[in-house]
Parts: sequence; structure tokens; C-alpha cells
Amino acid sequence: MKISVYDTTLRDGSQMEGISFSVEDKIRIARRLDAFGIDYIEGGWPGAVPKDTEFFTRMREAPLERAKLCAFGSTRRAGGNVETDPFLAHLLAAETPVVTLVAKSSRWQVTDVLRTTLEENLRMIAESVAYLKASGKEVILDAEHFFDGWKLDREYTLAALAAAVESGVDVLVPCDTNGGTMPHEVGEIIGEVVARFPRTSIGMHPHDDGDCGTANAIAAVRAGANHVQGTINGFGERTGNANLIPIVANLRLKLGYECLDEQAMGELTRLSHFVDEVANMAPNPRAAYVGRNAFTHKAGLHVDGIAKHASAYEHVEPDSVGNVRRLPVSEQSGTATIAQKAALLGYSIDKRSETARRVLDEVTRREHEGYSYEGAEASFELLLKGATGDSTHRFDLVGYRVLVEKRANDPEPITEATVRVRVDGVERLTVAEGDGPVHALDGALRAALVDAYPHLRDIELTDFKVRVVTAGEGTAARVRAIIESTDHQGTAWSTVGVSTNIIEASWRALVDAVEYGLRDS
Ligand SMILES: [Zn+2]
Repeated sequence: MKISVYDTTLRDGSQMEGISFSVEDKIRIARRLDAFGIDYIEGGWPGAVPKDTEFFTRMREAPLERAKLCAFGSTRRAGGNVETDPFLAHLLAAETPVVTLVAKSSRWQVTDVLRTTLEENLRMIAESVAYLKASGKEVILDAEHFFDGWKLDREYTLAALAAAVESGVDVLVPCDTNGGTMPHEVGEIIGEVVARFPRTSIGMHPHDDGDCGTANAIAAVRAGANHVQGTINGFGERTGNANLIPIVANLRLKLGYECLDEQAMGELTRLSHFVDEVANMAPNPRAAYVGRNAFTHKAGLHVDGIAKHASAYEHVEPDSVGNVRRLPVSEQSGTATIAQKAALLGYSIDKRSETARRVLDEVTRREHEGYSYEGAEASFELLLKGATGDSTHRFDLVGYRVLVEKRANDPEPITEATVRVRVDGVERLTVAEGDGPVHALDGALRAALVDAYPHLRDIELTDFKVRVVTAGEGTAARVRAIIESTDHQGTAWSTVGVSTNIIEASWRALVDAVEYGLRDS
């Protein structure tokens, strides 16, 4: 059975705290989802949100290639008329092939929130659907609070759906609006809805408040739904919408449903990271299928086993979702791990060789100081390059200075960094201000290097974290700084620096970040 995938990252997903998409961001995401093969892309609420109105205007100039664009809005107002309803007029003005109407389906929501009669709500649904169908739209009905409404008055929720079906609705989508329904309940209820409306497509719109968003989407499909709504990476209000990434991976790879193209699965990791990047969110390392830890095997006992029987520790092949296997280096690991890790990065090192032993000694020594390479493969790769004689050294530090100044009435301190480095035998002195010491040092170092290495303009620091670590016995507490960087090709890398001084720790991570970014320059 073909399962349609409906993405609402640009509408429901953008409700998440910390996300604010510009019109340009929305267009980039829409185009990427289109290329990826999503069936329906909900762009927003025209008329209600000015940015969304502009988005639809811009999308008319260059329509999507494969996906159907959807405009979202509510049924006509209580006591009103479809012909003169301002929201329905905005939905038509968006000129999308699909309109998604949100409607009340819970008796309590109608009488206590909408404050109208049960009969009027049914007329609002029937007339709005009929009006949009007569205008040539494909119409999807999102039935809000459906599962709670069902438990309160099942017949009324079914009457709300029937009103839409009689007016020719294309897809009925029960919504678990507060995200609290359990998978077995979704299965039972969707099964009954499918039986009641056998000629209409039935969908599911889960939220993740009970951590059951993915399970609820799957339960609905197994009960006969053929349309699933969610967001990339589970963006959304509160704990988020259901996450389309594991939903489509599970439906296709585990359950064998026809859902997106086969080759789309191999793009899942890149898609997930792309949307995080546009949303300016740090990717979740523990995300199922696409997180950086999803196929990471902590070194030690089973490292040899991994090489021989990877499938024993992996529920799918990492390639099948575009991810990669990682074998983090850690203190317990031996030269075999070093050799394997090196092989993954494209270096051939014999585990019995002097080089493997040297790298292991260096990793062990640094871990004792408080370094950790488990989340900083780029720093490990630089160390490996050094050990194999492939120098990534691009400049020599002569000195740096960081000044932080705050006067009584300043809301925030001012930070200024001065960097003196030698590049190709020429000494350069540069100064930059920043929001903090790392930002200022980054600015000054870039200014010093950018003429020699213009590729630096493509490199961006995306995240910075510090943690206090207690290193080996008898030493003071140290600070570990981790910097995440990306370039314009979407490659992301993490580097690490450790020191008793937070600025020095950050500097070390920054130098690795820049040298890694310039490794091929
Ligand atoms: Zn929702």
C-alpha cells in the first residue's frame, strides 16, 4: 500500500520555541523537501501570518516540481458564509493545489472553545469543504482533538468526519492534538474510522507529548491509514510533532510499505541535518537513524566483533539511511580500534605498526589530560594526519590577547581579541570584537588567514560547548571546549581543546576547527 507523506515543518514545526524561519528559509526547505520526494508540503497559514502570505506569493513564481503545496486554514467562521469568509478567501488566494482545513471534531471543543452549536460546526465543515471542492482544490480535513473527542462522544467525531465526506473531502486526518493518545488506542480508533469511511483516504497527525509520535503514526498505518503527517526532526510546539524521519524509515525499511522512493532513504541523514542547519538547531546526536551516535560503537570489548559482524549491533545498515558507522576512540581501546577508525577515515594503518602504537600513546596521553575524541572526530583525524606525516599545519601562533571590559551601565561586556600569527613566513596582526572570547578570537584569526585561505569564508562555527573535566589524579580541574563547524557543502565537524584556562581550551579547539576546514587547501 502506498503511504502519502505530509510535511508540516513549515507550519506546525515552526511553532517550536527557538525557531523562526524567514521566507527565504521556508523556500529553501520547501525545495529540499520537494527534491527529496515528500508528497505534500504544508507552507503555512495565508492571511493569518504575513510571512506565510508572502511565502505563497513567492512559490507561485516557481512552483514545486513533484510535491503538492498545501495552504492551511480553518473552516468558515461560525454564523458566517463561505462566499464572504475572509480566511477561506485567503486560502483560495494562495493558489495552491491543496487546502488543509482544520476543523473541530470534539464536542467539548465546539461548545466550550468555539462556543457554537454542534449543528453549526457540522455545517461549517460541510460548507467549507464543498466550497473549496467547487473551486477545484484537493481538500484535506485535519480533525482537531479527534482522539479526546472520540472518548467523550464518538458519534459526534464521526458526524464531523461524515460532514466532510458528504462534501467530497479527499483525506480525513484525525489529529492527536495534545499528543497523549497511546498506540493501541490509535490502532483501534483509526481501524474504526477506516471501516466507517472505506472510500476516503484516512490519515494521522500525531504529536509527541507521550513520546509515542512515531509509534502512533505506525499504529495508524497498520490500522489502514494511508497518509501520515509530521515534521522533519520532530520540530513542533512543546515536545514536538511526530518525527517524519524515523516514521518513513520504519515504514519503508522495517515494514515494507511503499513510502517515498527507495533512494530517498539514503538521503535521510542529509535531509535531517539540512533542516537543522536552516533552523539553526544543533543536530541531536542520539536521533534514531540519522544521529551521529546512531551507528557509533563505543570501543573496547566488541570492536573486533563489530568489524566481523556489524549487523549484530546495528538494526539497519548505516548506508541505508545515509549515515555512517563510527568507532569512537577511547582510553580502553587498543591499536585495533585506531586502525579501524583510521580505515573509516581513509587511512590504511596496520594495527601492529609503529604508527598505530604512536597514535594510541598520544590519544591515551591526551585523554589523561582531559581530552575526549568521542565527539570530536576532526581533532582525531588531525592527530592521525600528524602521525602519518601529512601536515595540516597552516600557520604559527606568535601570540593572542583577549580583553573583556564591562562598565557599570553596559548590559553586556565588550570582548576584543588580538591575534598575531605567521602565515607563509609573513607575520600578521589582527583585531576583532565579538559576542564573547571565542567569537572574537575566531574573528581575529579569520581576518589574519583569509587572504591566504579564501576558503575560510565558507566555514562557519555553529556551536560551542564547554564542560569542566577532572583529568588525571593530582591535576587541577580543566575545561574541555568543543566547537562544531560546517562548510557550504553541508560537511560538519567537531573539534576539541582542553586547558585549565577556558580561553586557551577554546583557542585549541578553534585552531583544530580552522585547520580541519582548510585541510585540503
Ligand atoms: Zn499539530
